[in-house]
Amino acid sequence: MTINQSGWKPEMAVKGADAAAPTFTGNKALMLEEPLIFEIGSTETTGVDFAEGDVKHDRLGDLTRKAPIGLPGLSEPETVRHYTRLSRQNYAIDLGLFPLGSCTMKHNPRLNERMARLPGFADVHPLQPVDTVQGALGVINELAHWLITLTGMHGVAMSPKAGAHGELCGILCIKAALEARGEGHRKVVLVPESAHGTNPATAAFAGFTVEDIPATADGRVDTAALKARLGPDVAAVMITNPNTCGLFERDLKDISDAVHAAGAYVYCDGANFNAIVGRVRPGDLGVDAMHINLHKTFSTPHGGGGPGSGPVVLSEALSPFAPLPYTARTADGHVHLIEEERTEEFSNEHFGGKLDSFGRMTAFHGQMGMFTRALTYILSHGADGLKQVAEDAVLNANYVLRSLEDVLDAPFGSAGPCMHEALFSDSNLAEGFSTLDVAKGLIDEGFHPMTVYFPLVVHGAMLVEPTETESKAALDQFIGALRSVAERAKAGDASLKSAPHFAPRARLDETRAARKPVLVWKDAEPQAQAAE
Ligand SMILES: *Cc1c(COP(=O)(O)O)cnc(C)c1O
Repeated sequence: MTINQSGWKPEMAVKGADAAAPTFTGNKALMLEEPLIFEIGSTETTGVDFAEGDVKHDRLGDLTRKAPIGLPGLSEPETVRHYTRLSRQNYAIDLGLFPLGSCTMKHNPRLNERMARLPGFADVHPLQPVDTVQGALGVINELAHWLITLTGMHGVAMSPKAGAHGELCGILCIKAALEARGEGHRKVVLVPESAHGTNPATAAFAGFTVEDIPATADGRVDTAALKARLGPDVAAVMITNPNTCGLFERDLKDISDAVHAAGAYVYCDGANFNAIVGRVRPGDLGVDAMHINLHKTFSTPHGGGGPGSGPVVLSEALSPFAPLPYTARTADGHVHLIEEERTEEFSNEHFGGKLDSFGRMTAFHGQMGMFTRALTYILSHGADGLKQVAEDAVLNANYVLRSLEDVLDAPFGSAGPCMHEALFSDSNLAEGFSTLDVAKGLIDEGFHPMTVYFPLVVHGAMLVEPTETESKAALDQFIGALRSVAERAKAGDASLKSAPHFAPRARLDETRAARKPVLVWKDAEPQAQAAE
């Protein structure tokens, strides 16, 4: 083993953003600058000390690598420091309010983490005999029961691994149901402008033609336009509720009745269930399929912090087409994992007796760690606590909306209270100032920016979702920060155009990064590449 001594070189010093007080190293205040791993690592270095392998014959034949792979190596302490330093340049929900609208960046309770790490959940293997994983299967089955109960639906597919994956699952159930009815010719999916962007992508991916339905001036789906478009070629409508403007689609029951009368199905994007959990049951609104983001509503980590999980609840009409596998508890208490085909014997409370699965979404049974966390969250809150989750999420968002609408334009502010997120626009900033400048200014004030330029129906949108886990003190601190940045943008403060000034990296050329991404490390131009 070689310990790499030569990683840092003086020319790697990055000059401090604050030119008035540069430091010799380029480091600032207990934060060491971190070059790329390609700059400090060496192919000669490794953190492990293995004896030379004794491989007599490999089975790769022609595919055996001829040249070294060339990946940079570091010793163990260097590796730990490299990634820990990088992590300190990032922002996290464990550091402060994370206002990213539509993402529901709520606190992940440590109790959830404790439960998910119990060896009976953390160390099980998906191919273990069913008798040895009764506890894990019991968790999946019980969570399925809770998701059905909370949504007022009939069945649930637990295996989809994220919201968008759940959308695909729901749309494939709709496709299978239409084909079973001999109506596979229905090829159009209607998507309102106020829906999440993944909705049209899902419908197109599943082979449907997507048609837009306009939004009304108050940010909701234009019900009249939607009804007028229903017809024998329409397979489904995909509605996000609460929608991406942070508003409740009040006409959903009326819309569902019309959609069903026209022979189509209602897909509801339920990623924003956080705002209505315990208060509204989508099943009562005529929904046929809806994904639930466990990583949002039920507080499992997401983003860089963990895999998602997007179970899909289904109406009685769609449940027979749900993907395998599913769990069923028999009267003797045993939990069965139905992987191959449904039988009457295991036509459990979730699915009724029909057996018409469209197939499989994933290799195994879903995200065990997320299931354990979500069930822990549900049980530790109880029915009253979950209801309060929705109430507090809505209360916090309205507090943000009303505290800032005198300084930032709130396009639907006059339409009444919002749901779980507050939407602002760039319309009253000074000439030449944009949403991007406000977002970058917020970084200097200590906060991750809100979601920007989404939803598309609002010009220069800024979507703030505080979630229910923020205290009033945290909300006030954030509101103060955003207010001061907004005031600077309204007053035309030129320094905002080059913000952030205090972040580890200054403002990037994001257009160039998106249009001409540099995806391959080239040794010849290390500094130029590093600057990008
Ligand atoms: C987050 C979100 C999605 C997508 O969920 P993923 O888990 O990121 O795939 C879809 N719709 C809405 C409204 C969302 O907020």
